[in-house]
Amino acid sequence: MKIHEYQAKQLLAGYDVPVPKGKPAQSVDEAVRAGLDLGGFPVVVKAQIHAGGRGKGGGVKLAKNETELKELASQIFGMQLVTHQTGPAGQTVQRLLVEQGMKIDQEFYASILLDRAQSKDVFMVSTEGGMDIEEVAAKTPEKIVKVTIDPASGFQPHHGRQLAFALGLSGKSFKSATACFEKLYRAYREADCSLLEINPLIRSGDEIIALDAKVNFDDNALYRHPDYDALRDLAEEDPSEIEASKSNLNFIKLDGNIGCMVNGAGLAMATMDIIKLHGGEPANFLDVGGGANAQSVAAAFKIILADKNVKAVMINIFGGIVRCDRVAAGVIEAAKSEHVTVPVIVRLEGNNADVAAQMLRDSGLNLTVAGDLTDAATKACAAVKG
Ligand code: GDP
Ligand code: MN
Repeated sequence: MKIHEYQAKQLLAGYDVPVPKGKPAQSVDEAVRAGLDLGGFPVVVKAQIHAGGRGKGGGVKLAKNETELKELASQIFGMQLVTHQTGPAGQTVQRLLVEQGMKIDQEFYASILLDRAQSKDVFMVSTEGGMDIEEVAAKTPEKIVKVTIDPASGFQPHHGRQLAFALGLSGKSFKSATACFEKLYRAYREADCSLLEINPLIRSGDEIIALDAKVNFDDNALYRHPDYDALRDLAEEDPSEIEASKSNLNFIKLDGNIGCMVNGAGLAMATMDIIKLHGGEPANFLDVGGGANAQSVAAAFKIILADKNVKAVMINIFGGIVRCDRVAAGVIEAAKSEHVTVPVIVRLEGNNADVAAQMLRDSGLNLTVAGDLTDAATKACAAVKG
């Protein structure tokens, strides 16, 4: 789960991490008032969207007085902000963060995430702050210093010293950095983050401050934090994914044109692989779950067909817990009620597969029965090409 920068900073402030003074705003007027409340210029106007690279895209601007503040807030509020993380369509800016402008002496990078291979947390810092970290990793990987932390023993003072040394700090700013790193790690652990990224982390005089903040929560830990529900911004989430979560479907939208309806995450991934192998592009990942029935199939059809890119649908369901003829009845009912107009290729395997195949053939609908997985993928790929 992703949250906005202003929410991430409120969370960090709760752990005593130094962040600039600031206020979120949902209109230009509110932004101007928030700016004046800060009690001095310059202030920074920052677009709040769930994507990075806002600075380069024109979503972060410095205002030197009230007139500029109003101008910039009007400019950024409502803009279609395009960054390397939003895709070409961009994201509409519906919230702003207005912050006190900070004097920046140095810009660093810091992040914490889980290294699955080592089963440990990894704390990364770099002197190359404020830049695209993927670019730093590709061109000058030696400028990223990693310290692994065993979650069982936790963050130790030597971790903090190692990180602060790596940034070339000394004296008071060294102390400020080690304190900041320890607090960041505590926030990461206690708030169940899957990612905590500060880019840039700045040195302003002797003080180390989080000038930007990106926090992702671990979805598997959300049950421990009922309060996070209030932090969700549905405007930032894909509408089809919201719809899918309401029907308890595991759905992730992709860019291809073959819609996939599958039961089981493993089979769903295998289906996407085999579509690719035959030269096609899946439009989504969709796991309808173990008990596929008429309702869940109908909900899945609705979500898949809402995507205008979809030119064919491939249904791949294994009837283990559920009987294939039941699924076939569900598919027929749903195909009728959803007015499916694109070709649908169905592969049902397992209990009563033969009965199911006959039902589909007799339905009079645009349903193609496939024998096995290869046959289904070949037919689906041919359908989108033809
Ligand atoms: P991102 O581009 O989405 O990562 O947004 P950031 O919050 O990182 O802001 C982009 C850039 O704006 C930063 O790297 C800074 O260089 C600059 N910036 C942000 N806040 C301030 C500020 O208070 N003062 C100054 N001088 N620059 C700022
Ligand atoms: Mn940033």
